[in-house]
Amino acid sequence: MNYDLIIVGGGAAGFFTAINVAENAPKLKIAILERSKEVLSKVRISGGGRCNVTHAEFIPNELSKNYPRGEKELRGPFHTFMTGDTMEWFDRRGIELKIEDDGRVFPASDSSATIINCFLSEAKRYGIEVLKNHAVKSFCPKNTYWNIQTSQGEFITKKLMIATGSNPKIWKQLEGLEHRTIAAVPSLFTFNSKDPRIVNLPGVVVNATVKVAGSKLSSKGPLLITHWGMSGPAILKLSAWGAIELEERAYTFEIIVNWLKEYSQQEIFEELIVLKNQYSKQQLYTYTQFDLPKRLWQSLVLASGIKNNTRWADTNKVQLRTLSEELTQGKFQIKGKSTFKEEFVTAGGVDLKEINFKTFESKKHQNLYFAGEVLNIDAITGGFNFQNAWTGAFIAAQAIISG
Ligand SMILES: Cc1cc2nc3c(=O)[nH]c(=O)nc-3n(C[C@H](O)[C@H](O)[C@H](O)COP(=O)(O)OP(=O)(O)OC[C@H]3O[C@@H](n4cnc5c(N)ncnc54)[C@H](O)[C@@H]3O)c2cc1C
Repeated sequence: MNYDLIIVGGGAAGFFTAINVAENAPKLKIAILERSKEVLSKVRISGGGRCNVTHAEFIPNELSKNYPRGEKELRGPFHTFMTGDTMEWFDRRGIELKIEDDGRVFPASDSSATIINCFLSEAKRYGIEVLKNHAVKSFCPKNTYWNIQTSQGEFITKKLMIATGSNPKIWKQLEGLEHRTIAAVPSLFTFNSKDPRIVNLPGVVVNATVKVAGSKLSSKGPLLITHWGMSGPAILKLSAWGAIELEERAYTFEIIVNWLKEYSQQEIFEELIVLKNQYSKQQLYTYTQFDLPKRLWQSLVLASGIKNNTRWADTNKVQLRTLSEELTQGKFQIKGKSTFKEEFVTAGGVDLKEINFKTFESKKHQNLYFAGEVLNIDAITGGFNFQNAWTGAFIAAQAIISG
């Protein structure tokens, strides 16, 4: 079977490539080969079933800062296709999107089925062949064509797009074609901790600064205490930026939490002395300070060796210094990680040095393109991973049409 373009992988990047090529080059014969019996499975479960399609950050250089791997390489591509283009793309197809307060963009229907139906109906409209249960076993260049072996026989194509997400078997295949790949490690996870200071506080959220001890890793933002440890944007950012370093440490390390974001220990100590004079007759434990959630304040007071009936006037300097330390430099041992809302995102994939980011074509082989998670690109949570898929797919589609 002969094609102009074969796309391996019926996921976000695969469909976006196929539709953008077909829209502008309707005569090309295009097929998507998908190993499973369903296409777009990850889109279906994404964003808790709502599909967080992108993030409302409209400055390319700012957008690229959300990619621990791919930041530098995506800066240029984002000048060609980014958030606003994604929103317009869906708008042109009658899909209404909405921006939530935190910048995440979802279909107004709050259902990933809206996005899936859009892709499926566009594929049908343009005559793209969607071949399910076609697992690609191998592919290699032959003269000016690509030869593809699948579970259902052989295919021939002029241009080949690999959009297989994080499939190690495909990375192995690519190594056989002299492409370097970076081994996959988890990139978006929460931290496990059984520390008694937080064990009874699930649900508490604080705007904090978190640092990994003995490392340059640091982040700011909401920290959510969970039943098993810590999560929230501050932790997820660290997990993404520290994916490789934390894996090397076998997910066993110490973090330092400043529950008061940026205040130094000395500043807080001095403030505690002021409070001591101001509220001398009150019990410390009873009234929270610094706008901290009351349960967290009480836990940190007890952790500082101050009893729940101690009055401010009866505290000594050592206790207040310890409390200021707990508030601004709390040390927590992390042992292990957990998956964030089943969102398995991995660092790793095809080495970015081997990709031409003006076309998303391989520098090693002509007519071989990549988009989405198959590349060594990943982002923090919030719609950025899909934006990478849309951007790569769109630019590759342009190159495929004009090449
Ligand atoms: C639970 C969950 C929730 C998520 N939510 C969000 C979100 O809301 N927003 C966001 O931005 N990101 C989210 N992500 C990340 C996002 O889903 C991925 O970054 C994105 O799907 C990557 O698209 P892709 O097309 O590169 O890969 P995939 O979507 O993984 O698609 C790859 C396709 O290739 C097929 N394939 C693999 N190997 C072969 C083969 N040998 N032959 C044929 N076919 C093959 C696979 O079956 C699959 O269908 C989420 C991830 C998960 C797991």
